[in-house]
Amino acid sequence: MLERLLRDVDREVAAVLDAALDGRELSAHQAARLLRAEGAALFALLRAADVARAEDRGDDVSFVICRNINFTNVCYVGCSFCGFSRHREDVDAYDHSVESVLEKARDAVQRGATEVCIQGGIHPAKDHRHYREILVAIKSAFPELHIHAFSPEEIDFGQRKSGMALRDYLAWLRDAGLGTIPGTAAEILDDQVRKIVSPKKLGSARWVEIVETAHAVGLRSSATLMYGHIETPDHVANHLVLLRDLQKRTGGFTEFVPLGFIHQKNALFNHLNARPGASLMEDLRIIAVARLVLRPGIPNIQMSWVKLGPKLAQMALLCGANDFGGTLMEESVSRESGADHGENLPAEQMRRLIREVGRIPVQRSTTYEIVRRFDDPAADPPSLEPSAQRALAGPARWRTRRKPPAAIATGY
Ligand code: SF4
Repeated sequence: MLERLLRDVDREVAAVLDAALDGRELSAHQAARLLRAEGAALFALLRAADVARAEDRGDDVSFVICRNINFTNVCYVGCSFCGFSRHREDVDAYDHSVESVLEKARDAVQRGATEVCIQGGIHPAKDHRHYREILVAIKSAFPELHIHAFSPEEIDFGQRKSGMALRDYLAWLRDAGLGTIPGTAAEILDDQVRKIVSPKKLGSARWVEIVETAHAVGLRSSATLMYGHIETPDHVANHLVLLRDLQKRTGGFTEFVPLGFIHQKNALFNHLNARPGASLMEDLRIIAVARLVLRPGIPNIQMSWVKLGPKLAQMALLCGANDFGGTLMEESVSRESGADHGENLPAEQMRRLIREVGRIPVQRSTTYEIVRRFDDPAADPPSLEPSAQRALAGPARWRTRRKPPAAIATGY
């Protein structure tokens, strides 16, 4: 029976999957082959990634209770995929004060957050002192709160304004309370692609330099990739191998997060002929290939529920992902580009979504220490919204009966 199921799987793909499951390191060429898998080979890839996930991380699915804070959307870098940035004179431009950022951090703590994720546009009137002020204000008020902040682009901007050496600048931020940095601004680490998607942003080599130096001073980071626009499977494969090699040198990546391109409201799709984001199969294929290429050095593969939506996020958990990401509470970068999956996914709903695919919800810290496990399904929150439960329960007079109606009791 199993042989019949596997009969149509392309032999080359089957050999690469065998190698990955045997723990052998895949080449960029092999990764690119998997990224082109279709039909039976694609389903074999997804299944192989799920097996690798079970070997690498077991059945736990982790999540973090966090709040996103975007302190300004003013930015003149002009990335073609960005629907978030505004110029200062735009009516919907904003620039939150440090006090206002602190207020959002306070709200996050009251809602159970262990982390705030802080990023903003590259506001020309700001400098390194502003970044540090934010850190000091939050850390003074909430010493236990983990601050995950400032993309490599923001680090590049602040460091150049400060005149400090990169290593000293990062250590200066760390000493002010910075805990980890987001590995965003990576998009595709290929300068030909970057010329189109982010021509004025830092180049690939500078991104690697900043992340590697951050890891060296004890600031771990996530690793990201943006796909579904103008990139080819070879670009993605090279990007994954670059991250894997960097991880071998530093061990500083906490997780890998593939981010699907949201196309609706930006120049990259509307004027530069990019694809309108990834297909469903492409979303799953990237998760699966990341699992197989990045193991064992980067064992946590996170999917972005903001980009995928909750149902596809559940599917990603069956194709190699083991992390649900953060609750976010507030999200504007994807929303401003056209994403419509909301900006807050409460921890209770995450637990339900995880349980529905037969896995164990685990609340984690930013750096993957376990905060709380939810082993017992009996302690889960109800699986339906209260209004839906009431509707299913029927009219109030039914609910007050001690015995079910006779027709139900007799099976008719
Ligand atoms: S992606 Fe970041 S750096 Fe680029 S335009 Fe948008 S806010 Fe600015």
